Amino acid sequence: MTTDVVTMDKIVSLCKRRGFIFPSSEIYGGIGSSYDYGHYGVLLKNNVKNQWWKSLLQERDDVVALDSAIIQHPRTWEASGHLAGFTDPLVDCRTCKLRFRADKLEDAQCGRKPSKHPGETPECDLTEAREFNLMFETTVGPVKSDGSIAYLRPETAQGIFLNFKHYLQFSRKRPPFGIAQIGKSFRNEITPGNFTFRMREFEQMEMEFFVPPDDAQRWFEHWLSERFDWYTKLGIRPDHLRLRAHDQDELSHYSSATSDVEYLYPIGWQELEGIANRGDFDLTQHQTFSGQKLEYVDTVTGERYLPHVIEPAAGADRATLAFLIDSYDEDEIDGEPRTVLRLHPQLAPVKAAVLPLVRKDGQPELAREIELDLRERMQVEYDPGGAIGRRYRRQDEIGTPWAVTVDHQSLEDRTVTVRDRDSLAQVRVPIGELGEELERRLRSPWRSPKLEG
Ligand code: ATP
Repeated sequence: MTTDVVTMDKIVSLCKRRGFIFPSSEIYGGIGSSYDYGHYGVLLKNNVKNQWWKSLLQERDDVVALDSAIIQHPRTWEASGHLAGFTDPLVDCRTCKLRFRADKLEDAQCGRKPSKHPGETPECDLTEAREFNLMFETTVGPVKSDGSIAYLRPETAQGIFLNFKHYLQFSRKRPPFGIAQIGKSFRNEITPGNFTFRMREFEQMEMEFFVPPDDAQRWFEHWLSERFDWYTKLGIRPDHLRLRAHDQDELSHYSSATSDVEYLYPIGWQELEGIANRGDFDLTQHQTFSGQKLEYVDTVTGERYLPHVIEPAAGADRATLAFLIDSYDEDEIDGEPRTVLRLHPQLAPVKAAVLPLVRKDGQPELAREIELDLRERMQVEYDPGGAIGRRYRRQDEIGTPWAVTVDHQSLEDRTVTVRDRDSLAQVRVPIGELGEELERRLRSPWRSPKLEG
């Protein structure tokens, strides 16, 4: 039986050691809250994003794609309410000089050890809370003036509303339909932290699903279950995932109902994705502020209405972090400790490693030949050097589901062994059937081995 041994520190160190995620600008001492994705991190996060696209664009016929600009007309943020209301309450400590979010004080660490916020200890002397706007301000064009102020988008959603009209006019879409996009968002978070969980620059995967007003509740429930199932199908253990409905006082100004998909991170239950019933708030606002009609008009019946919107808003970085955490495992092979990422094969950065047992007797050449053939089908890696056990261990740590080993027998009968990362079973497969065999395994339903036992 495997036990859950994961901690955030272990994930941070594995990510650095194996080239998934690095602290940004490290040679200059780092810049808090920014991270850079290395080779395996890029491959993993791309797989997460591709699975999200696939579930919406390929497996359905009622969602279309968009990639909108990061800098939009500044009126966007007046209309959306972000300029006035996208704030967090900020407090300063007069003693330790640190700043905290007034609504997250229970997590705050005082700058003067060992005291901790909140509390009326002599070291803690908090100011009254003041509202701090999280949007990054910038200027557009060569002259810095009031008229040139613009904002880096704090969410991708508004770009979808600004383009809604194009989809009605040119693509002749009719509700119910969704517009999806993935892109960077920026928030000047007061207290970023917990690795990539809360950063100032992050990537969102958002979809606005436009529906006839009377159908909104039904579609809200539909997306709650679709989005929950997306994570479990990709291997997140269901007992580490929950849906939590917002209380009335937690709801945003635009939302009549919101539920979060929460994951049990090592720091506790935290939001992975929010699913909101936004009503017609956004389209109404943009219609008012732009003076452009954003109604859907049925050309046959003449019926016209502003669609209501269901929004599943997920974070690509938080999802990637959840998949890393959920797959992290430690066990022993022949008395030797091993760290392994039991990632869903579809998410694994590398699907198969091709390893010659020894660096002679024609084995490297045959392994290269196999690698070149497999490359056409999937992400593979050729690794010729070092003890075979060490090479297996390296692939286990980056979550490679299958290791293909070329040995002396391979040159005689053109078969190789395929080692399974989780069961450790090794079977011999003819080289001519290898590609198809690995593709078959990749397509098969998958269940986390951490659920067994
Ligand atoms: P939180 O309450 O954790 O601040 P939020 O409710 O403000 O999150 P949303 O505005 O609903 O977040 O954004 C949708 C998704 O974008 C979140 O569920 C999360 O996955 C991701 N996200 C939001 N802020 C950040 C951030 N600072 N760093 C990384 N991901 C983020």
